[in-house]
Amino acid sequence: MPGLLFIVAAPSGAGKTTLVRRLLAEQPEIHLSISFTTRAPRPGDREGYDYHFIDTDTFKARIAAGDFLEWAEVHGNFYGTSRRWIENERAAGHDVLLEIDWQGAAQVRSLWPDAIGIFILPPSLETLAERLVGRSVDSAEVIARRLAAAREEIRHAGEFDYAIINHHLETAQADLSAIVRASRLTLAAQREQNAALFARFA
Ligand code: 5GP
Repeated sequence: MPGLLFIVAAPSGAGKTTLVRRLLAEQPEIHLSISFTTRAPRPGDREGYDYHFIDTDTFKARIAAGDFLEWAEVHGNFYGTSRRWIENERAAGHDVLLEIDWQGAAQVRSLWPDAIGIFILPPSLETLAERLVGRSVDSAEVIARRLAAAREEIRHAGEFDYAIINHHLETAQADLSAIVRASRLTLAAQREQNAALFARFA
């Protein structure tokens, strides 16, 4: 019995990573997929925790070997999700969360239409720009590229099932928890979790 598959996407600067980390602290039974990337680690990034950092040749070899469930080029770097990791987790019945971009989300949705897509929006483009500039580790050129990419990402919000507007962190966190809870309460999910009970009422 496969677990639930959550996909969380957002333009960078919307607060996605913070919200996801808070959700996972609250609900450690949801397992986070650690992506592979060719992006250089930022200060504070930890190998195997934030990402698996690999070089472009290794990434391309993994594409050729069919190792990725989905992969995409984002902001000039490659990112991909391990197929084997997801398949093992789902086979074990675990709930899984992917923090990926809209291109990856589309690929996963075509494979697993029951994936639950959650899109996180900033309260305004101005707020997003302020948050991106606030991340002083990135250069002005990188920030400009990220703003353009953010607009592109937001254009795809309509492909997701749920939207969270991250105005206040606490409210957005409660919204994310509510989506997870509601997803576990659909009739299909309840039937799977409580097969014996439903069988008695049949
Ligand atoms: P960052 O480099 O800022 O951590 O992430 C940049 C973008 O890449 C984010 O939108 C993030 O969701 C996306 N991303 C991270 N991992 C993956 C992945 O495995 N696949 C895809 N398609 N996108 C990813």
